[in-house]
Amino acid sequence: MGVDMHWAARSAKVGIRSIVDFVWPSRSIVSGERHGGTGAVPAHEFANLQFLIGSGCRMCAVPMEVDLGEANLCGACAAHPKAWDQGRAAIAYDDVSRQIILDLKHAGRRDGLATMTNWMAMAGQDILQQTDWLVPVPLHYQRLAKRGFNQSVWLAQGVARQSHNLVLVDALKRTRATPSQGGLTAKQRRDNVKGAFSVRPSRAARLNGATVTLVDDVYTTGSTLSACAKALKQAGAASVNILVLARVVREADITI
Ligand SMILES: [Zn+2]
Repeated sequence: MGVDMHWAARSAKVGIRSIVDFVWPSRSIVSGERHGGTGAVPAHEFANLQFLIGSGCRMCAVPMEVDLGEANLCGACAAHPKAWDQGRAAIAYDDVSRQIILDLKHAGRRDGLATMTNWMAMAGQDILQQTDWLVPVPLHYQRLAKRGFNQSVWLAQGVARQSHNLVLVDALKRTRATPSQGGLTAKQRRDNVKGAFSVRPSRAARLNGATVTLVDDVYTTGSTLSACAKALKQAGAASVNILVLARVVREADITI
């Protein structure tokens, strides 16, 4: 009887799985096309993604032609260090990866999260080993209420599952609603988010002296990440790193 029940439960599960595959076959997170294989990205599209894992500037993750290892800093970061300490990005934000971000951010598409956060965990492997808390970039509560989710929380939780880090979901809050950064210049973006974030007083004790890794979906000009990093450091974080899914690497892509 027990064995029969077990068998029945198992075949029911298999049955459900194949119905799901039939009704909703795997859809690429890059192109949105349905493909016959398993996984979030078919092989021919995977080859078109620009991965930034394991290379680039140690602070802003911009790709660099020569990799100097631990001391790898781009000219911009050497001249003007960021508000954070180290930065890692999984992929370049470009024409190929745009759809991944838009589907995640605006449509709340979650089926590629395990793949995306696996890339992020690989890109951030070294900094994640030193991290006490993963902290997602927050949305203003009004935008959160309207959208119903914060994709940066999803990414932080997904990375945490793979790297065994802890997430402090509500460490930061947006103290004012800021207009979307899309279409703004770098200076306007900085002014737009200046002082827009603060650490929740109830979380300050946990952040004091801690190594924090901020998690966000896209690094465009870095103004949001910078404002968050400053708030964390003011609250006593010893070290702040950033880990993003995608990083804009060409000026032409600063549209998001
Ligand atoms: Zn740099």
